[in-house]
Amino acid sequence: MRARIDAACARAGVPASRVKLLAVSKLQPVEAIRAAYALGQRDFGENYVQELVHKAAALADLPELRWRLIGRLQRNKVKEVVPVGCSVDTVDSLRLGEALQARAVQDSRVIEVLVQANIGAEPQKAGVAPAELGALVNALRKLPNLRVQGLLAIPPMVAHPELNRAHFRQLRELAAAHALPELSMGMSDDLEIAIEEGATMVRVGTAVFGQRPVRTALPAG
Ligand SMILES: *Cc1c(COP(=O)(O)O)cnc(C)c1O
Repeated sequence: MRARIDAACARAGVPASRVKLLAVSKLQPVEAIRAAYALGQRDFGENYVQELVHKAAALADLPELRWRLIGRLQRNKVKEVVPVGCSVDTVDSLRLGEALQARAVQDSRVIEVLVQANIGAEPQKAGVAPAELGALVNALRKLPNLRVQGLLAIPPMVAHPELNRAHFRQLRELAAAHALPELSMGMSDDLEIAIEEGATMVRVGTAVFGQRPVRTALPAG
């Protein structure tokens, strides 16, 4: 996967150091994360709060491991997430930002966040509408314990990755308009195009870890 990312960077004319691989480890056992860590992987993404909290505790002995929450966060789960010290990449409302801020103050922490943009304007998807993104970013920047680092988007499912190039480009333009350096976009099928359009972080699960075990319980996070 890293070789594929590096090749995409070379084609796009950007240094390979620009693009981080986020290994999406949801539903994978902690042993799989340990194995990836032993090979040098440091950034891991989880979708469900309860699973993240459990894994962070189980892997607390890995000093350089960094967690990112890439699934939906409900405000009543903020108190569980903040102590993990992870980045929260799915902030899409000021109410959620304020809840994170309040907890971060209590815990004397600074939290890195990405703002999730609903780039395809899909009604069933999370994320702030592009037209409202600027106001949200400005409001979040006033919260002293949050560091707004960039944007995340999950573009529409399409038959061919090329069809999402315009969405990736729109996300890059939004980030540039608000001086946000991080762009979490691109997954296994479309990471080349996302990197050509400026991704700084690609999120890959199955292609790193293999097939996920089936989720049997209702989402807890
Ligand atoms: C699960 C997930 C991924 C990775 O998906 P794979 O198909 O396993 O590569 C990336 N981004 C988000 C937001 C996810 O939930």
